[in-house]
Amino acid sequence: MDRTALVTGATGYIARHVIVRLLDAGWRVRGSVRSRAKAAEAIAAIRAALADPAGAERLELVELDLASDDGWREAAGGCAAMLHMASPFPIAQPRDPDELTRPAVEGTLRALRAATEAAIPKVVLTSSMVAVQYAGFPGTKPVYTEADWTDGNDTRFTAYTRSKTLAERAAWDYVEGNGRKIALTSINPGLVLGRPVGGHFGTSVQVLRRILEAKDPALPSVTFAIVDVADVAAMHVAALNKPEAAFRRFIASAGDASFADIARILAAAFPDRRIVTRQAPDFLIRMIGLFDSSVGTILPDLGRRLNTSSAAARDVFAIRFKDMRETIIETARYLSEKENI
Ligand code: NDP
Repeated sequence: MDRTALVTGATGYIARHVIVRLLDAGWRVRGSVRSRAKAAEAIAAIRAALADPAGAERLELVELDLASDDGWREAAGGCAAMLHMASPFPIAQPRDPDELTRPAVEGTLRALRAATEAAIPKVVLTSSMVAVQYAGFPGTKPVYTEADWTDGNDTRFTAYTRSKTLAERAAWDYVEGNGRKIALTSINPGLVLGRPVGGHFGTSVQVLRRILEAKDPALPSVTFAIVDVADVAAMHVAALNKPEAAFRRFIASAGDASFADIARILAAAFPDRRIVTRQAPDFLIRMIGLFDSSVGTILPDLGRRLNTSSAAARDVFAIRFKDMRETIIETARYLSEKENI
């Protein structure tokens, strides 16, 4: 096989796993980075994680920024597939939501326009559960499926939630408006955990770090759909080879767990550690949220118990999601061994 896939955001936590999988499956990979100089650690880590070190020769880098037109046309040229994974995912939310929504939406459209110009037939977009899980807000639906959509214009949601929702919407609108020339698949992962490739583990793993550090006296009643990074990567690669995956979204989730559920799993697995498992009353978190903007960002999630269906992914990709307990414990073990937490 000699097909080339363009993977945007090659330095990212999830993208590194995707690239390892693509190279091991025989693909050529053109990984986009913002700066070659800053990508050295990621590339070394990807090489070290390959089952067959020869795969490293099939990896090349290009420089692309979501906010600039430079280089997209050349980067997409000759590719058989594109995996658009780059999107801003900061820990702290900016005051101005445009700081995230603009690069997310414009970057997605740049990627799709480049795919059209290069006649790339297949694009996989990394969207998110946040583009699904606020359908019916502030209520909760009995089960969340791919038919559910967050309202990306609702200013009650975080800039990140809005950026992911608006970017995915823009992608579907673009593809429909272009006569479905690109077979788009969207992967919508919940909170992604699991061992990183190299030292970069992204924003999602910070949730576990926070619980392990046990600095909070009680935990907010916030629930996440949780999924292992290896399963998310496997879905991205499988989507390239499955015609049935075209023009569909797929939730990636092994199950749903609250902060307190995660803390209880960790307390049972690491009995020698001090882990806070107490849940804080919602009114208290709401009050703190008035003064602390980092707490303010979780207010839309307070008291909402998610029940996420991953039936579509299990059906089309025949995936058996890794047990979330194993993922949580493995990630915690990594953080404690490698990060000294
Ligand atoms: P990372 O922060 O590790 O990766 C984000 C990637 O996007 C990095 O490579 C980053 O480059 C790149 N990027 C950000 N802004 C720009 C920009 N302006 N121009 C070019 N590249 C940019 O996050 P994850 O790996 O966790 O996330 C990858 C994707 O998965 C994102 O789309 C995210 O929204 C989505 N996702 C993640 C989930 C999770 O729990 N981790 C859950 C659901 C979806 P650089 O290294 O230069 O900063």
